Amino acid sequence: MAKDPVCNMNVDEKTAKYTSEISGEKVYLCSSACKQQFDQNPSKYGH
Ligand SMILES: [Zn+2]
Repeated sequence: MAKDPVCNMNVDEKTAKYTSEISGEKVYLCSSACKQQFDQNPSKYGH
């Protein structure tokens, strides 16, 4: 189980609809809102 870095929710990698890739690392997000927040400011979430 992966963790959404924005809201700290658990995200299932197999069914995740929202993902982002940063420096070769795949990040799983629970919603488009979280993906948007992450993409806008990845350094805020440890990337
Ligand atoms: Zn989220």
